[in-house]
Amino acid sequence: MGSYHITVLKGDGIGPDVVTEAMGVLECVGKKYGHDFVFNEKLAGGCAYDAYGEPLPEETLEACKNGDAILLGAVGGPKWDHLPANLRPEAGALLKLRSSLGLYANLRPAIIHKALSDASPIKPEIIGDSLDILVVRELTGGIYFGERGYREGKHGEEAYDVEAYSEFEIKRIAVQAFEAAMKRNKHVTSIDKANVLESSKLWRRTVTEVAKDYPEVELDHMYVDNAAMQLVRNPKHFDVIVTSNIFGDIISDEASQITGSIGMLPSASLADGAFGMYEPIHGSAPDIAGQDKANPIATILSVAMMFRYSFQKPDEAAAIERAVDAVLAEGWRTPDIAGPGDVPIGTKKMGQLIREHI
Ligand code: NAD
Repeated sequence: MGSYHITVLKGDGIGPDVVTEAMGVLECVGKKYGHDFVFNEKLAGGCAYDAYGEPLPEETLEACKNGDAILLGAVGGPKWDHLPANLRPEAGALLKLRSSLGLYANLRPAIIHKALSDASPIKPEIIGDSLDILVVRELTGGIYFGERGYREGKHGEEAYDVEAYSEFEIKRIAVQAFEAAMKRNKHVTSIDKANVLESSKLWRRTVTEVAKDYPEVELDHMYVDNAAMQLVRNPKHFDVIVTSNIFGDIISDEASQITGSIGMLPSASLADGAFGMYEPIHGSAPDIAGQDKANPIATILSVAMMFRYSFQKPDEAAAIERAVDAVLAEGWRTPDIAGPGDVPIGTKKMGQLIREHI
C-alpha cells in the first residue's frame, strides 16, 4: 500500500498521447496492488511557452520539487525551433529540470524483446532472441558542464571545453550503477579512457573503490573505443554500463539503436534518494502527434522503472513488463514496430491491451 504524488508533464507532440496511456497503467497497477496516485498535471515545453512565455514556468518546477516522481512525455517541435536556446523546449525545460532537481544519474535500458528480435540491425546469431543492457550515464557533470571558452593561441583562435570530475560525482554515479546491478545480473562494466585522460584515471580508481562495497557484483573496465566496438560485436557481455556524461551520451544512443525500436525504450533520471523523472527516450514525433499512431510502450515501461527505482516496488514493475511482453508475444503491434504481415493497432488500443494483461 502506498500513496504517491506524481507530477505529470505531458509536453508536446505525441507526449499527451503516450502519457495518457501510461497514467492509465499507473491507475490499473494501483487498483491491483492497492496504491493511490495523485496526479498533478503541469505544462512544460512548447505548450508552456505558448501559455506562459517560458518552457519551464516556476509553477511547474515547484510542483516537480514537491512530488514523489515526474512522468514526462516529450517536449519540442518545429513550432518552437526558431526560439533562442534558453527558450527552446529541450534546453529550457529538460536541461533546467535536470539541473534544478539534481537529476545526476540517467538510466537507459536497451532491451530487445523476444517477440521483436527481428528489429535489431545486428545479426541474430550475435543478439540471440533477446538483450537487456542498462546504461547508467552521469548527467550533470563532465565536459558538458565544464569550463569552456575561446582564446588566442599560437596559430590563431582556439576553443576549449574542460572535462573535470570530482571523486564525489564519480562515487555517487557508481553507487547508482552498483545498486542497479544488485537488482539485475550483478555485473558492472565501467567505461572510460583511462589510458589517456586524467579524469578517467580518477574515474577508474573511484569506481574500483566503490566496488569493494558490492562484493557480489563483478566489475570490469573498458576503454570507450573498445566498448563502442564490443556493443555491436558482443553485446551480451554487458549487464550494467556506467560512464561519464559525454561517453554515456554516445554509448546510450548506440545501445538503443541496436534494439531497433525507438518507441519501446524507457529512461529514468535519478536524484539522491528516491526521487526521479521518468520519460521515453524518443522525442515528440510531431509527424504522428494526436493521430493515435504513437507507440506508448516506452512511456509505459518508464512507469515500470518508476515503480522499481522511486517506489521500490519491483513486483509492480515486473507486472507491467510482463504485460508488455505478453501483448507483444500475442502479435499486437503499433505501426512503428509492425512487420509486413501485421495489422497495426493504435496508441489507445495498445494501452488498453497492456492494462488488461496487468
Ligand atoms: P523523434 O524521436 O520525435 O522522432 C523520430 C522518428 O521516430 C519519427 O519518425 C517519429 O515519428 C518516430 N517516433 C518517435 N517516437 C515514436 C513513438 N513513440 N511511436 C512511434 N514512432 C515514434 O525525434 P525527432 O524527430 O528528431 O524530434 C522531434 C522533436 O522532439 C524535436 O523538436 C526534438 O527536439 C524533440 N525531442 C525531444 C526529446 C525529449 O523530449 N526528451 C528527445 C528527442 C527529441
